[in-house]
Amino acid sequence: MAYCEISKASGRGNRYQKQVAMDKLTPDRRSANMRQIRDKDTAPEMMVRKLCREIGLLGYRIHRKDLPGKPDLAWIGRKQVIFVHGCFWHGHDCIEGSRKPKSNQDYWLPKIERNKQRDAENIAALCAAGWDVLVVWECEISDKARLTKKLQPLLST
Ligand SMILES: [Zn+2]
Repeated sequence: MAYCEISKASGRGNRYQKQVAMDKLTPDRRSANMRQIRDKDTAPEMMVRKLCREIGLLGYRIHRKDLPGKPDLAWIGRKQVIFVHGCFWHGHDCIEGSRKPKSNQDYWLPKIERNKQRDAENIAALCAAGWDVLVVWECEISDKARLTKKLQPLLST
């Protein structure tokens, strides 16, 4: 049973029910489900924010509604944004992003396509308006040294 069905049946915030439902899912399906539920303030996002603070990239704003795609982090004065994207839902070119679960394909295939399309549009709109855009993928989070290196260009401008 999908989380959204439970949510409709039992109302919001019923953690116990949610937990029971999760436990009935296969690990694979469960992790896909988790990614689907988490939208804002995801663990990868929190990791990126933490790393930014550690390396001195301070003063960011989060989820600014007035910017295309509501970037996860934005430095307004410096016109820099970071998107933190889940590999599966945003169609990354990695193992997780190439995963093709058999169930619910007619739900998630078009959804991923729409996400990719929207991401490209948002990035194009930001670039056209003079913003620097950095996309951090979920699969890049675990390698802290590499991620730090990726964030370096933001520091030097
Ligand atoms: Zn990836």
